[in-house]
Amino acid sequence: MPSSSGPAGSGIRRRGRAAVIGGSVAGLLAARIAADRFAEVDVFERDQLPDRPEARRGTPQAEHTHALLDRGKEILEDLFPGFFADMATYGVLPLDTAADARWFHRGAWKMRFPSGFAGYPMSRRLLEWKVRQRVAALPGVRIRDGAAVSGLRTARGHVTGIRVGGEEVATDLVIDASGRGTRLPAWLADLGYPTPPLTRIHVDLGYATRLYRRPAAVRDWAIALCSGGCRAGYIVPIEGGLWSVTLVGYFGDHPPADDPEFLGFARSLPVPDIHAALLEAEPLGPAARYRFAAYRWHRYERLPAFPAGVVAMGDAVCSFNPAFGQGMTTAAVEAEVLGDWLASGAASTAAFQRRVAAIVRDVWLMATSEDFRFPETEGRRPRGWPAMQWLMDRFIAASNDDPLAMTRFLQVMHMHRRPVRALADPRVLGTMLLLGEDRS
Ligand SMILES: Cc1cc2nc3c(=O)[nH]c(=O)nc-3n(C[C@H](O)[C@H](O)[C@H](O)COP(=O)(O)OP(=O)(O)OC[C@H]3O[C@@H](n4cnc5c(N)ncnc54)[C@H](O)[C@@H]3O)c2cc1C
Repeated sequence: MPSSSGPAGSGIRRRGRAAVIGGSVAGLLAARIAADRFAEVDVFERDQLPDRPEARRGTPQAEHTHALLDRGKEILEDLFPGFFADMATYGVLPLDTAADARWFHRGAWKMRFPSGFAGYPMSRRLLEWKVRQRVAALPGVRIRDGAAVSGLRTARGHVTGIRVGGEEVATDLVIDASGRGTRLPAWLADLGYPTPPLTRIHVDLGYATRLYRRPAAVRDWAIALCSGGCRAGYIVPIEGGLWSVTLVGYFGDHPPADDPEFLGFARSLPVPDIHAALLEAEPLGPAARYRFAAYRWHRYERLPAFPAGVVAMGDAVCSFNPAFGQGMTTAAVEAEVLGDWLASGAASTAAFQRRVAAIVRDVWLMATSEDFRFPETEGRRPRGWPAMQWLMDRFIAASNDDPLAMTRFLQVMHMHRRPVRALADPRVLGTMLLLGEDRS
């Protein structure tokens, strides 16, 4: 078993070998964490990886607007010190979610004030490329591109290797971070293990994202958002003096890629701001499109048996409605949990999957409380849903013009606070209960 000394000053002896399946955000963060404990970490990525911030087949979502939430930013900076100073050299600067955003949500304008919750708008390609550079520079880490994993090997209930092309690669730990298209359930079935139950919520969402040259005119907002209905739109500034403009439609009402229909879809939003801004900006080609049919949550935490030494995280466990911008931050929080789990001896994979499920549960609640409002959303509402829905509706309505409720809302949105804790704040509850019926 290979061994070497761990991160400088940590006193940790790094031993053994870990294999990460998937070289996107979750896989790279997992590799960063595993590199603290394992002498060798191999990241297997099916795609050929570009040596610049470029599109690739395995991450079609990278063409679309990606927000990194405040908690995700904190974790990235912790894992890669100086990351955001480097980003600033590309023109990526923090924007306050409340002060810098003009946000029309569920039929009302959100209040604007310096909240201290920053998003870092940047292209997803740039983010992934910069993270990849940092991970590739870690001792013991190899990123092997053009390497599709096709199965697992186990002996006496423990993983011993993975299949990559015709080759078998020995490993002590496998981390599945292969995204929505994960084959882990099928590989488990091939080995005679039960497969995890899959929870799906069908929303049939369409995305269209187009880049515009940012106009010179000064506005009183940097980000424009119109959300909470079956049609939504976002304007987000990214590096290179560009706007990343995304239109979203639910239940098969998908935004088109070309003009005049793209602009027509923007004009149909409940407020005219996004359409008006686009009329003053220069589009750089047609939009990229993406269809997101359903949320998918593989319930690994419910499995009665699972091979030791295999864990799953990121979109390979759960992919949410992407419009809420939670996926990368969820992967970052899960990476932190991976670090704790490895530090505690990594004895029970079930314990790791239970902790991942606890993270997913809160994110799921936030996202689905938006989508279950629509009768067309297909999927089982949780027990007690009408009461939960009522509370969430009131919470969101209260956050439109009450600073404390808005602060709590942003804490939950940026994944700094659990929704139940935000709702349990007596002062926020008081504001929610005093709202008139027409406000919720
Ligand atoms: C349209 C859209 C918009 C989004 N917007 C946001 C946003 O604003 N904010 C946010 O935080 N998140 C957003 N997300 C979600 C975010 O992209 C993901 O949650 C995030 O990238 C983490 O995904 P992942 O690394 O788990 O999987 P993925 O990004 O899907 O990556 C999986 C990787 O595994 C590789 N792979 C697959 N199978 C194999 C195999 N057998 N062998 C080797 N490699 C394999 C793939 O090529 C790919 O590189 C959005 C998603 C979509 C679809």
